[in-house]
Amino acid sequence: MKIAIDGPAGSGKSTVARLLAEKLKFKHIDTGAYYRWVTYNVLSKGVPLTDEAGIVRAAAETDFTGIDERKIRTLEVSGNVSLVSAIPGVRGCVAAKQRAAGEKYDVVMEGRDIGSVVFPDAELKIFLTASADERARRRYQELLEKGGRVDLEEIKKNIANRDHLDSTRRASPLTRVADAVEVDTTGLTIEQVVARISKIYQERLKQ
Ligand code: C5P
Repeated sequence: MKIAIDGPAGSGKSTVARLLAEKLKFKHIDTGAYYRWVTYNVLSKGVPLTDEAGIVRAAAETDFTGIDERKIRTLEVSGNVSLVSAIPGVRGCVAAKQRAAGEKYDVVMEGRDIGSVVFPDAELKIFLTASADERARRRYQELLEKGGRVDLEEIKKNIANRDHLDSTRRASPLTRVADAVEVDTTGLTIEQVVARISKIYQERLKQ
């Protein structure tokens, strides 16, 4: 069983996917972390962001078993990840790794192109949304709790910029596929969102 959860930055995907996976005893895969990890490696190796071939090489050399959560949530990585993830060669390489990581399991996989590209045959596809202001506030809160340096205006700009790049890029843009169920999380708690998706999942099982 594959559950694909796609949506823009700050729509609640990561927390919702993690809790849903715990509840269903599925494996949780955060695909944004893959693109963030490639970006971190590109930046730390000093590969110029204009060097597409160098970035694709860095992606191919990346070991995804060692993703370091503390290194990938910085504003520097957030500010560059959409440029890196827009490169078709990077996407091809990363999507193949994600498929291999999820293939043999029941998974809740979250990202931007799971229902459209990585697992187009997923049995359940959810498209999570929330207003831009609420998404920025959530990211702000998240970074604040981690003790990072935070500025709400900077986060708003970063989210708007990523929304734009992620939805307009030529290679597998963020889009709601026709068979995805849209869940607007504005004003809902995480628990309410998880309960809503669990209900959709239970109903899907009966079909
Ligand atoms: O989910 P998160 O916000 O951590 O994702 C970081 C970035 O990775 C996104 O802004 C997007 O550029 C890229 N991404 C992607 N495809 C995915 C997951 C994430 O392009 N499936």
